[in-house]
Amino acid sequence: MDTKAMYKLGYGLYVLTSQHYGYHNGCIINTAIQVTTTPNRISITVNKSNLTHDMIINTGEFNLSVLTEDASFDLFKHFGFQSGSEANKLRGYPNAAMSANGLYYITESTNAYISAKVVHTFDLGTHTMFIADVTDAVILSDRPSVTYAYYQDHIKPRPAAPAPSPEAKTTKWVCRICGYIYEGEELPADFICPICKHGAIDFEKLE
Ligand code: FE
Repeated sequence: MDTKAMYKLGYGLYVLTSQHYGYHNGCIINTAIQVTTTPNRISITVNKSNLTHDMIINTGEFNLSVLTEDASFDLFKHFGFQSGSEANKLRGYPNAAMSANGLYYITESTNAYISAKVVHTFDLGTHTMFIADVTDAVILSDRPSVTYAYYQDHIKPRPAAPAPSPEAKTTKWVCRICGYIYEGEELPADFICPICKHGAIDFEKLE
């Protein structure tokens, strides 16, 4: 089995925002789809280690901001590579506004936001799947939505090409999510990327 076949699935990229007791947070997800039109419902799947996950469990409400191709790597770093339990990502963040449900949405490098209210929750082990009624939806621009493949090819920094040196040949492993490079013959199975916190499964050998 070639699990890289999974990369051929099409994904968008989104900032998922929620709040709990007035503390607002957001994270990056790539798992949002419309599941039915009548009623208008979407599904999202969120890693349980995200603070935003717990906020949605508690409040049942979230906003989904649809990112566009001009989104910068800094935006992905801001919402994706740091935890809301360590940094307040939305306090003072200039490119966010509040929608009618009292949650933030992202105003730059987004072409729409969708507000939703959870109606079903499924425990998937590492993640929770939320099925939610769309309560509001607003178009913000005409720019094309960014896909995960576009992020991989055009937004994520390219790892510097290793200098050819015949003596010191170290094996390198690159994080597919953020481009971090690990050097070593074997990548430990429990390795966690120090930048984006994704696991060894998201690394590939740099040839
Ligand atoms: Fe990483």
